[in-house]
Amino acid sequence: MQELSYLEIPTPDTDAVRHWLQSAYTPQVGQKIPTATGCRLQFPNHTSELAIVVWSLQRTTYLKVFRWGTVPVRREKSLVQALQQQLRANFPYRYPQPPPVDLEKESIFSALAKDYPLTVQYFQHFPNGEYDLTRAYWWEQRWRDGVRSPQQPRPVVFSQAVSGGDPSYDLVYLGGALGVIHAAVMARLGYRVLLIERLPFGRMNREWNISRSEFANLIDLGLFTPTEFESLIACEYEDGFHKFFDVNNPPQCQAPVLHTPTVLNIAIDSERLLRLCGEKLRQAGGEIWDQTEFQRVDVTDTAACVQVVHLPSGRENVVTGRLLVDAMGTASPIAWQLNGGRSFESVCPTVGAVISGLDRSVWDPQYGDVLNSHGDISRGRQLIWELFPGKGDELTFYLFHYHQVHPDNPGSLLEMYEDFLRSCRSIVAVTWTN
Ligand SMILES: Cc1cc2nc3c(=O)[nH]c(=O)nc-3n(C[C@H](O)[C@H](O)[C@H](O)COP(=O)(O)OP(=O)(O)OC[C@H]3O[C@@H](n4cnc5c(N)ncnc54)[C@H](O)[C@@H]3O)c2cc1C
Repeated sequence: MQELSYLEIPTPDTDAVRHWLQSAYTPQVGQKIPTATGCRLQFPNHTSELAIVVWSLQRTTYLKVFRWGTVPVRREKSLVQALQQQLRANFPYRYPQPPPVDLEKESIFSALAKDYPLTVQYFQHFPNGEYDLTRAYWWEQRWRDGVRSPQQPRPVVFSQAVSGGDPSYDLVYLGGALGVIHAAVMARLGYRVLLIERLPFGRMNREWNISRSEFANLIDLGLFTPTEFESLIACEYEDGFHKFFDVNNPPQCQAPVLHTPTVLNIAIDSERLLRLCGEKLRQAGGEIWDQTEFQRVDVTDTAACVQVVHLPSGRENVVTGRLLVDAMGTASPIAWQLNGGRSFESVCPTVGAVISGLDRSVWDPQYGDVLNSHGDISRGRQLIWELFPGKGDELTFYLFHYHQVHPDNPGSLLEMYEDFLRSCRSIVAVTWTN
């Protein structure tokens, strides 16, 4: 038997592909016989025949053409090419978009139930499920609008040929996630530091894994003692695995499981890390203004004059610093302006969950899955899984893919939720994490 073709047909509706093969597909040569998984092609006076099989995995469809027999059938190459072209024409890449939703007339659950049935089913069981699914929906809409019709960035950085006076701070940090780590180090070095964060300070809505060697830099800098570091560890596992799905590859392109025992094997209590950095920053004389949003900066010859707004009260304020540090991440309006309207080229759509109470025979918490794929490309995406043991008996796991931003295919979190939940619906307790 020889494999002649292996294709992904980018549709979750595998039955439709099978049905098309059995009814509409007309090969130039040979006699078609339907089978449970596709069809066979037989050729008069020829010992070889072709088998076309389809199957479903990760909400997409795969197809293979095999030849039974050693002698190629007549016009074999052009027959396979024609099949591929017809499949592409009948099942083109489509990037479904969420339906319009009018929340005055129906709930988010009923609006999305037809297109995203598992997502709706699980969100209905999450504590704030309705709110969170609405948020995910609007994020996706906003994202799509932004990619399709990019807005000119609102200018936020201005140069002023005037003196800004004597600045009140040496360093003004915008953004209190990774920003607070740097800010704490600089405050301890004696600089006058102010940190501005839009959210209540100390929130990190995600799990965070790190390696001992990475964290050692912060100990070497004197920011943390080794004992403090140990107290931040929620879980440390013995070994992490990487494995890409390769059963369809020729043997020379297959690889054994890669072990990286010391990479990302520590789950940090990220909120405690931020709080501790905040304490160290304040102890060294620094200040934190949280729930405060950056608005604009006027750069003068002596200072950066930063305009901010305190969100709960709406009160505006101007602070001055010798240096402004942008740590607002990918949402930074400064990066947006300075990079001509796009602060990034690619994104990494990620969905995930924290589960607890899983039997040890299913997953041993001494191990993590750093990068793992269990299928080939799926509707244009290479889906990758990550699994990290967390506090107690918790396991955090993510599904993500790397994605170049394109107006025809902005990427979809709702599709990802559906993929994710389809793959893990056998797991009993799923708790929303992000
Ligand atoms: C699901 C997920 C899992 C991840 N896991 C890991 C991991 O295990 N290990 C790892 O090393 N990395 C991980 N990462 C990547 C890591 O989280 C990021 O690299 C890191 O958070 C980037 O930090 P940042 O401070 O630059 O930006 P961000 O984390 O985005 O922080 C930006 C901060 O700026 C604030 N801000 C934004 N706009 C304003 C404004 N106008 N005014 C004031 N404040 C503002 C935001 O509220 C936020 O607190 C993960 C990312 C995701 C999404």
